[in-house]
This record gives sequence, structure tokens and C-alpha cells, in this order.
Amino acid sequence: MKVKGKHLFDALRDEKCITMACNTRFAKGVVAGIFDAARQTDSAVIMELAKSECGLDGGYTGLTPTAYSNWCNEEAGDAVWALHADHLTVKKGTAGELQEIKQLVDAQIAAGYTSFAIDASFLFNHAGGNLREELSENIRVSTEIAKHIYAKAGIDAGLEVEVGEIGRKSEAGFVVTSPEEAVTFVKALNENNVNPQVLAIANGSTHGNIYEGGKLVEQVSIDIPQTKAVAKALREEGLETRIAQHGITGTPLHLIKEKFPHGDITKGNVGTYWQNLTWQVLDERQPELMQLVRGWVLEKFGEEGRAKGMKSDEEIFGKYSKKAHKQFYNELYAIDEATTRELRGLCREHALKFFDAFKSAGSAEKVKQHLNTLK
Ligand SMILES: [Zn+2]
Repeated sequence: MKVKGKHLFDALRDEKCITMACNTRFAKGVVAGIFDAARQTDSAVIMELAKSECGLDGGYTGLTPTAYSNWCNEEAGDAVWALHADHLTVKKGTAGELQEIKQLVDAQIAAGYTSFAIDASFLFNHAGGNLREELSENIRVSTEIAKHIYAKAGIDAGLEVEVGEIGRKSEAGFVVTSPEEAVTFVKALNENNVNPQVLAIANGSTHGNIYEGGKLVEQVSIDIPQTKAVAKALREEGLETRIAQHGITGTPLHLIKEKFPHGDITKGNVGTYWQNLTWQVLDERQPELMQLVRGWVLEKFGEEGRAKGMKSDEEIFGKYSKKAHKQFYNELYAIDEATTRELRGLCREHALKFFDAFKSAGSAEKVKQHLNTLK
């Protein structure tokens, strides 16, 4: 059962669980495996792709909103889920750029998306005199796009906004979002009748795989006390917004299960992880295809990666292989039944581990109960 994003987030706002949101760049086998695990554990789940991954031109996955929606609809069965537009990224805030985003939103709504993440976090005015001035462009742009979403998809569309650029570092380390910044931002949006259920913050995570000296390493940099402080400040102001944790790939599951503040964080994005599983299965089952994919990625992005300080082919592949989905779209979607089955099984197995760490078992039933109260 596909549900409106607001209903899913409202139902689980005060539950001590995190709803997993999966950026499944390769859909075949992966989407089905995650839904298998969601049904098995009665976990509500979110399927999502960002504007860069899935645009009107297919983005770098080669999937359009309609194509992605079709994959999800086909595999969902009776799972409780929302279809979410991740990172509707605004970089400049010009009228032309906003128009382009609105066109994409229209296509996503037509394709059946029920939830949207506006990301105007880049529009930070470093010359502003106070927080409100620093955030003024983010507030303006987020409001304008949110109003468009409400007008076209209704006010029960899910809404995520973003303050603080994820993964940004200064010489002192990660730049993290302060409680005051989060409260100022959400309050300003609420004043404009824009009511996001979740807020993405900068809290020490990075999108994608992380390497040190060319070797893949775990992510243990998420600032949990800061995340709790932001959530507490939002609660104390009586705001209904909770936190969306981006960039979870690489975070040890025991850390998520034991240390993450479930219920302060209510949405957890897992993206590159599924791509890593995809390449793992294809490396075993389709070595010739993977040789082509690997060769293409290293040939095309090797120089750029090394110029950015990447230290090994493994690192360059791990960072740039997302670009191969579109290039090898036909070959990848032509993989045989046995390979697809194996990928589906592996994704199911790993999704079960995430649902356990996110403590989401039974959350689907809670969403259904919430929907009954709205009737
Ligand atoms: Zn993200």
C-alpha cells in the first residue's frame, strides 16, 4: 500500500524507530529484495532517488520518475511505503532553476510520488548578520517549491527540507548544524505555512563510500550528541519536525542499533550500500560485464579522481561507478534470472539487518492504524 508521505511520518513521529529510505540506483532485484524484507518484518519503507540520480532525462541511473515508480509499484505487493523525491537540489535559486525543479516535481507527481525533499542548503548567505539572514535564501526557495508541491500534490504530501550542507568540512573538521539554526529554519518555514515532517541536517555524515589511503573504511563520524541536541531543541519549541539522517552507508549496524537516537532521527537514508551489493553480485556472476563497467569508470574518471586526491582504483570506482548505471543500462537490465534472484536475496538479507538496527518492525501496522484514524 503506497501512502502519502505526511501520513507515514505523522504516524511514526513519536515512535522509537527510524524509517529506512532506500536509494536503489539499480532497480532490478534490489527493489524486490528490500520490499521482501519490509513485508517480512512489517516495516514501513521509503523508496527514493535524488534529482541527480533520476531526472526527466534519466539522471545518472538512466531511470526517469515514471520508470522508477513502475519498478517500485510492480514489486511492492502489500508493503506500506512512500515514493520519495530525494535531494531536489537548488544550487543558485534563480527563477530558471526553480522552474526546472517545478517541472521535475510535476513529472514526479504524475508518476505517483508521495513525498519530496527540497534541498536548498547550498544557499547559505555567509555575509548575513544573523541566522535568519544567513538562511533567508534557503527559506525563500524552500517555501516557493513547497507551495508548488502543496498546490499540485496536496498538503498531505511528505515534506523534507535541508539546512546545513551534508559532508561539508572546514579546517576544524565537519561543519555541523546547530540547534538554533535548525529551529530558526523550521520556524521560518512554519510561519510561511510550510510544515516539513523531517529536516536533513549536517551532522558529520558523508554521502557514499568513504576511503582512507585508498582503502574503504567505516563511517563513525556522525555527531550523535549534536543530533540529539537539534532534535531536543525542535521538540522544546513544539515543532513537529524530526531529523532525516543522510549518508548512512558505511556506518556499523551495531552503532546504529545501540547509539542512534531512534525517534529523534525518524528517516534514515541508505543509498550507495545497495549499489555496493549490486557490484558485489555482478562481480561474481557477470565478471565480463563488470570488467567493461570497471574499465569504463576508470578510463573516464581516473584522472579526475586522482586530481581530487583519490588514492586507488578501488576508491575511484567506489566514488564514480554510480555514473555507470546509465552508460550500461541495457546490459545491466539484461542480467539473467539467476543473477537477479541472487541480488534480490542478498538485498533482502541486508535490508533485514537495517530494519533490525532501525527498530522498524511493526511500523507498517502503525501507519495503517494512523490511516484509520483519518477516515
Ligand atoms: Zn542525501
